[in-house]
Amino acid sequence: MKKRLFKGATVCFEGYTEYCDIADADGVITEIGSNISSEGYDAVYDLRNCILLPGLADVHVHFREPGYSYKETVSTGSLAAAKGGYTAVCTMPNLSPAPDGEDTLKEVLAPIEREGRIKIYPIGTISKGRKGVLPADYGYLKGRVCAISDDGDGVNAELMEAALQSGMLVASHCEDKAYPHPEAEWRYLERDLELVRKYRTPYHACHISCKKSVELIRAAKAEGLPVTAETAPHYILLSTEDRKDSGDYKMNPPLGTPEDMEAVKRGFEDGTLDIIATDHAPHSAKEKSGGYAASVNGIVGLETAFALLYTNGYSPEMLAERMSRLPRRIFGLEPAQIKVGEKTNFTAFDTVNTFTVDPECFLSKGRSTPFAGLELKGETILTVYGKEVVYEKNR
Ligand SMILES: [Zn+2]
Repeated sequence: MKKRLFKGATVCFEGYTEYCDIADADGVITEIGSNISSEGYDAVYDLRNCILLPGLADVHVHFREPGYSYKETVSTGSLAAAKGGYTAVCTMPNLSPAPDGEDTLKEVLAPIEREGRIKIYPIGTISKGRKGVLPADYGYLKGRVCAISDDGDGVNAELMEAALQSGMLVASHCEDKAYPHPEAEWRYLERDLELVRKYRTPYHACHISCKKSVELIRAAKAEGLPVTAETAPHYILLSTEDRKDSGDYKMNPPLGTPEDMEAVKRGFEDGTLDIIATDHAPHSAKEKSGGYAASVNGIVGLETAFALLYTNGYSPEMLAERMSRLPRRIFGLEPAQIKVGEKTNFTAFDTVNTFTVDPECFLSKGRSTPFAGLELKGETILTVYGKEVVYEKNR
């Protein structure tokens, strides 16, 4: 039996925060207390100067395998996630093949079972082949994926209706390409909410980026519709004013105006936008080298999200809720609870020292981020998932 002791962290439990030690054996928490003696443990971790949160969960990442392993693999993606403090991620289905039924989902699960060091939940497609024409094999996908989405592309109303009736959570990429941004986002969202009003089944809006969308979601929630939403750190912290002629600022949806940014920030703070997802979307250096106009959409996010929000004043308690507990609840993932008898599943972040965001040190294959060079607090020191230390700084 392997016994470990995690000493001296300030721990964000559900509802309260307390300075304490945590002991575990074979990946299950055995004791939580103050001044537990280090004697008899196989490993002792000094976590003074750290806050300890339940393992973070990101419901919107792109791990690119199978199909686009030159951009990212399940292996590099999960290392990047662990370095960011994540122990669970949901992977979007823009893959080749796209997980739309039995054979294709098995192909997507193969590298996850082989390489995944954290918990990885594939998201299935809404349409067959992600082509936007016929529905995917919902009968097979149900119970095997945590949600369905055609992320990257919107779907027509008929497919959205089929998706909402599938019995699975629908994670919607809101974009009607007939309109410019941000109209493309909110017009599509408005259509979706009309359908949610009809079917009353769980609907999750991905990467919300503009003021009008925040208002629509706020109204839908007030009405009691089963709607949840995510936004990403870049929509809270950056706007068109910050944009430079670089691929590092190119993502879909694009950065909003300062007014949009303020509305998204307020929406996140008042809970209209429930959770933070990163939309971690790695690409090769070449694909991101064409300046703003000619680079492909997508930036990486897993290795900077927590530190960005923590440095910008969001409390560890709030982030534990919005980056761990709520995303896990909304997507039906394994809970991460810091309690005796539960699986060890937590992350320690440094609250004292600062670090500089250096894309060359990312574990992701993707390097494109608008936050390079920033000095932040909240660096990950240790990420533990069950028996495994999946990330440890300087190891
Ligand atoms: Zn998307």
